[in-house]
Amino acid sequence: MIERLARRRLEKRTIGDVVKGPIRIKTSREIEIMRRNGRLLFEVMQEVCAAVKPGVTTKELDTLAQRRIEDKGARPAFLGLYGFPATLCVSVNEQVVHGIPSPDCALEEGSIVSIDCGLELDGYMSDMARTMPVGRIRPELQRLLDVTRECLELAIQTMRVGMRLGDLGRAVQEHAEGNGFGVVRRYSGHGIGRLMHEAPEVFNFFDPQNNKRFQNGWVLAVEPMINMGVAETVELPDGWTVVTKDRLPSAHFEDTVAIVDGGPVILTRP
Ligand code: MG
Ligand code: MG
Repeated sequence: MIERLARRRLEKRTIGDVVKGPIRIKTSREIEIMRRNGRLLFEVMQEVCAAVKPGVTTKELDTLAQRRIEDKGARPAFLGLYGFPATLCVSVNEQVVHGIPSPDCALEEGSIVSIDCGLELDGYMSDMARTMPVGRIRPELQRLLDVTRECLELAIQTMRVGMRLGDLGRAVQEHAEGNGFGVVRRYSGHGIGRLMHEAPEVFNFFDPQNNKRFQNGWVLAVEPMINMGVAETVELPDGWTVVTKDRLPSAHFEDTVAIVDGGPVILTRP
């Protein structure tokens, strides 16, 4: 889940304060806790992603995720966050992010589905998302998934001391737009730690204003959201689900990444 900059007044103030606040440098002890949490989240996501197939409802995936998180002694971090009603954000096809799981939404062969999950344990958050095929998909959908995944890898590779946040945004933007895709601008990645959403905002496009240098001890949720068509998005009347303006498909890959000894360490992978 990513920043929602214009939801309700209270939330807007809360998130705005967080995102404008200081960038919290994590100690090696804190990063160890977050590494443990990231590994747990990876394990949960492996199980949830393995359950994706035609006919499964997004609510069933949500129930599985909640059970697995609680089995590990952790807490679903999205449940109740800003009032969100579920453990997972499950976003199908033209849905970009923040889709609400439903017993009425059964996955269909040929679709793509984004699964975004967060957990909290011992006071620290972890955040991860993957978009995957449901059964067999068209080659152009697979290319959207591949390019978005590559955008995440390229973004992570910029997370080196001496590089800047703007370098990360530029890497994502150049790769996505070079492949003819649109980069979502309204939502971004974020710092993460004791809070799900901390400073800094991590834009997926080049912004000269957002050009701080990476430092050891930063932990960021890096999450390119890439659209097959236009970059613009629309929020549905449910107050959560974000869809592409042209209703073409969208993909989302996210990992929680620390900067240690000058370079990136991906916490949400084994
Ligand atoms: Mg997320
Ligand atoms: Mg996130």
